[in-house]
Amino acid sequence: MSPQTGVGPARPDRMHAVSDESRAVVDLVLDYTRRRALYEDIPLDVPASPEELAQVASGSITPGGLGAERALALFGDVLAPTCLSTDHPGYLSFIPSAPSKAATAFDLVVSASSIYGGSWLEGAGAVFAENEVLAWLAGELGLPETAGGVFVQGGTIGNLSALVAARDAARRARRERGLPDPARWVVVCSAESHSSVASAAAVMDVDWVGIEPDDDGRLHGHAVEDALTAHGDAVFAVVATAGTTNFGIVDDLAGIAAVTRAAGVWLHVDGAYGLAGALVPAMRPAYAGIEHADSLIVDPHKWLFAPFDACALLYRDPQVARRAHTQHAEYLDALTESPDTNPSDLAIQLTRRARGLPLWFSLATYGTNEYRAAISYGIELARRVADEVAARPELSLVRRPQLSVVVFRRDGWSAADYEAWSARLLADQKAFVVPSSHRGEPVLRIAIVNPLTTFELIRDVLDSLDSQ
Ligand SMILES: *Cc1c(COP(=O)(O)O)cnc(C)c1O
Repeated sequence: MSPQTGVGPARPDRMHAVSDESRAVVDLVLDYTRRRALYEDIPLDVPASPEELAQVASGSITPGGLGAERALALFGDVLAPTCLSTDHPGYLSFIPSAPSKAATAFDLVVSASSIYGGSWLEGAGAVFAENEVLAWLAGELGLPETAGGVFVQGGTIGNLSALVAARDAARRARRERGLPDPARWVVVCSAESHSSVASAAAVMDVDWVGIEPDDDGRLHGHAVEDALTAHGDAVFAVVATAGTTNFGIVDDLAGIAAVTRAAGVWLHVDGAYGLAGALVPAMRPAYAGIEHADSLIVDPHKWLFAPFDACALLYRDPQVARRAHTQHAEYLDALTESPDTNPSDLAIQLTRRARGLPLWFSLATYGTNEYRAAISYGIELARRVADEVAARPELSLVRRPQLSVVVFRRDGWSAADYEAWSARLLADQKAFVVPSSHRGEPVLRIAIVNPLTTFELIRDVLDSLDSQ
């Protein structure tokens, strides 16, 4: 603490003042960040158990502090190597991440600028830039110009926020007609829809009806129509998936939209992973009908090359969302009583990082053509991998890929064989491919979003399936 003169308490300003120490801390962290962001050979790394980490990394929180140098060394030498690099070209499980260099770097600017992204009053320029991205996406997908939305933390919060808005709209419509709520509200979706939809239903205490898709893996209008007939006006929303996480399958959006429009039911499209594919002109027909969505999501941290974590949530009519989500409190009066549309009013959140800005900066830097090309590459690579799988006698495709997910089996292998192979692949630092399952059968699933992932890398992975 520095001694103070005059009135007022002594200021403990060591952490905040611009000083030699502050400069050294900032330089140290930025140097590390620069090296990590520009790695030529990204280490895949391996996880560690809580016990292992407790042995080597405990005791970092002390009354006097370790100092930045030691704390950063602990992170760089001990902690970071136990975190898988999801941007490694061989990270092929779940949905990988592949932030562009511009997006990664700009994430630091968002932090350093201390922008409050919840309100227009506080973050006008940042919100404007985020809205530019949302308007571009809305235009690409054929939503009306009045569409608008907000970047939230991830697809789970995006789906929940959209469904809360949908139920609020349904409830208001019933009240206007003098009708009470149904005994149980119902959300209808495909059995292949993401787990976050069932989770949203549980949070909202509504019933979740998962319909088996047709043999082509897609949810179609006729199945939705049957569900609407069975559950009547208790249904407040239908969720279609634009790119299932398991297989990358896009539901029959046009067929479903025809049914929801006729019934006056809200259509939400979950495109957290796969809606990025609609930016590729040749893929656009697969998404026909998306223009009728009442709400939709797409995660920039999945296939739009932004760092964790961000979900673009769009509404056909943002005013409906505003009615459902605006928080009222005396200390917020200056915000809620203004005519501005505040990002916080459109989802379940108040304080908000301007998490759409890294995507904005990256799009503004490279332009949309580069994005279309990078997404298209993943789709083409997945097709080539599927051809390669089909050509190998010991492998068989479970389904031809529509987007960039390839699911296949190694004939004759048990779940234990897959586990052992996967562990070896990671131990050798070649790739991260965890076994998955389909209808109870163990399978392998490869998801490609990273433009640095090559056919040769995946061919080596397939080669390693040859032997035990
Ligand atoms: C990943 C995913 C989600 C969940 O998104 P998070 O950002 O992980 O919360 C929802 N729906 C689909 C289709 C997904 O692929």
